[in-house]
Amino acid sequence: MANSRLTKLRAAMAQRHVDAILVTKPENRVYLSGFTGSAGWLVITPNEALLLTDFRYTEQATAQAPAFTIIKPETTAHVKIAELCSQHGLKMLGFEGDYMTMDDYTQYQSTLAGVELLSISGMVEGLRMFKDAEEVEIMSRAAAITDEVWRQILPKVKAGAVERDLAVEMEYLMKKLGGDGVAFDTICASGVRSSLPHGRASEKVIEQGDLVTFDFGAMYGGYCSDMTRTVMVGEPNEKQREIYGIVLEAQLRGVAACKPGMTDKELDAVCRDYIVEKGYGDKFGHGTGHGVGRFIHEGPRVGPLGKGVVLQPGMVVTIEPGIYLPGWGGVRIEDTVLITEDGCRRLTNSPKDLLIL
Ligand code: ZN
Ligand code: ZN
Repeated sequence: MANSRLTKLRAAMAQRHVDAILVTKPENRVYLSGFTGSAGWLVITPNEALLLTDFRYTEQATAQAPAFTIIKPETTAHVKIAELCSQHGLKMLGFEGDYMTMDDYTQYQSTLAGVELLSISGMVEGLRMFKDAEEVEIMSRAAAITDEVWRQILPKVKAGAVERDLAVEMEYLMKKLGGDGVAFDTICASGVRSSLPHGRASEKVIEQGDLVTFDFGAMYGGYCSDMTRTVMVGEPNEKQREIYGIVLEAQLRGVAACKPGMTDKELDAVCRDYIVEKGYGDKFGHGTGHGVGRFIHEGPRVGPLGKGVVLQPGMVVTIEPGIYLPGWGGVRIEDTVLITEDGCRRLTNSPKDLLIL
């Protein structure tokens, strides 16, 4: 596992002409090494992979990170890393500039005299955009737990239920069904509150005639899942049916169009153009989706401001168009999908036809 990731990392290092990199970001550390402890530093060169950690973790690190040489520094990490640089003749050290604090950087600068420090922000994240078979399996499981939570909570979604009670129960179910916990705080927003794209579950009581939006996801094996469903409590009126129908069609078009070779912006446009055509473009104020992995929001960014990243097999993204009408309510429908060789495959599989509860 860790070996093939290291091979890809070394290729990326060679491309950027970096001799060695220091990895301190926990998600990148576990991705590259397999080591899940709370403290550790990776130093990776073209030929060596070193993991520095303290006595609490040396046994665990040896078991979890077989591709790494485990080092227990007798001194501070800064000093030990300086020693390793001189031992290995390193003249340049890449570091995660988007993560390292100013204080840490200053300290490295003074202990690593003669070693050039170079920010390699995004290098490991670039690899993490592509999920390997093992990650896909874990993410499928995270999504399956999320689907099952939905199946089990639905009978309890009715007039008189309190948003917060439902959200708490869903979070309990995520753990009960095998998840590590939640990927993010569960969103449950009913009635007029459903126009809040990220409406935290409140004390509001669900009423007859409410649209109710749930956005939630289990965390499993260190990976996130993400799904949104909007349901109707009681018979929908014409407007509720119309808005639901537009969002559903936009979402289905996004899933049908999503394939390798298109850019993140192009995928966004598939959903957005349809909503614009129906006259609600200004009520869809967020991007169509985002990458998912160890973080709930990762690259690529599927939105009008996307970087033009070309979608490729192995990427996992969400497709989540929505329409939000302040003072009235809103609808969002979201799936997490895996880009395959010729299209995409949904990881979240709960039904999407309008549910009238
Ligand atoms: Zn979501
Ligand atoms: Zn999302």
